Amino acid sequence: MKNVYSNIYSFNKKTLKKSVNSLKLGNIVSLPTETVYGLGGNAYSKTAIKKIYEIKKRPKSNPLIIHYYSFKEANNDVLLNKNFFKLYKKFCPGPITFILKKKKSSKIVSSASATLNTIAIRFPKHRVVRTILKSLNFPIAMPSANLSSGLSPVNPLDVYDEFKKKIKIIIDGGQSKIGIESTVVDLSGKPKILRPGIISPNQINKTVKIILPKRNLKIKSPGMLRRHYSPGLPIVLNQKPSNDKHAYIIFGKISDNRVNYFNLSKNADLKEAAANLYKVMRKIKKKGYKKIFVSRIPNIGPGIAINDRLRRASK
Ligand code: AMP
Ligand code: MG
Repeated sequence: MKNVYSNIYSFNKKTLKKSVNSLKLGNIVSLPTETVYGLGGNAYSKTAIKKIYEIKKRPKSNPLIIHYYSFKEANNDVLLNKNFFKLYKKFCPGPITFILKKKKSSKIVSSASATLNTIAIRFPKHRVVRTILKSLNFPIAMPSANLSSGLSPVNPLDVYDEFKKKIKIIIDGGQSKIGIESTVVDLSGKPKILRPGIISPNQINKTVKIILPKRNLKIKSPGMLRRHYSPGLPIVLNQKPSNDKHAYIIFGKISDNRVNYFNLSKNADLKEAAANLYKVMRKIKKKGYKKIFVSRIPNIGPGIAINDRLRRASK
């Protein structure tokens, strides 16, 4: 990308060093991951964690995900168990977050986990964040790089739109391939899914038996009940707009294509639809639409995660 934004950097040796130094100083850097872009800070530094909550305007009750290079580093802070290793082997590095019991000796700043005795950990796959993690001797606390309750950013310009020059370093790692947040699995007790993601409940259930949600996922994790993932516009689900003034998010092949129709995936590919979800919602907002209608999205595989985000965005 030709960089007209002085705080967006392409990734090279020089900007790797710049990011690493900044993180070591307790500053916040925006980094690409395969799920969405994050706001990263030293998970062992009180000042860094404070900055993350302040910049995002995130409620203190909503804990952060801590990112590690591998299980070896995570082992310093959390109690790794059998179920963890089964899922780690299958899905990591990748778009899955584990809730585990915090070790007494853990150096994670307690405000990063909202003073809970559990910690959410993840091993991101994106080359940029992995290279940075490998260069550090501390893990990175990293929520999505957006103002609290809004849409997650999926490219560096989205991050810029959210914070302008408030973040001094945004690393350009291209468009986030997955485009929605990680699957969150609680392994601190009986395994259960707290947030669906591209790795579906069925996929996880094949490796570790989880308590499968009956109907709508009622999530009992801090920060997950409120409105979230919102584009800041009213959203009406499973309904067609009555006129062309409103945006209509559709899925699959449709013969009637109008300017106010935004297709998540013409091929009816749910993975593609997930990757396009936030991109499309940002586009609709930029075009000035005041209301969004959404057609029915199949509630299987990645569709479960898409419907979860849409439901919470519509609250
Ligand atoms: P985000 O940073 O926006 O990707 O959100 C991280 C999600 O992980 C939040 O919804 C948190 O509620 C959840 N989370 C983080 N840490 C914990 C924890 N210790 N226990 C339960 N949920 C957690
Ligand atoms: Mg978020």
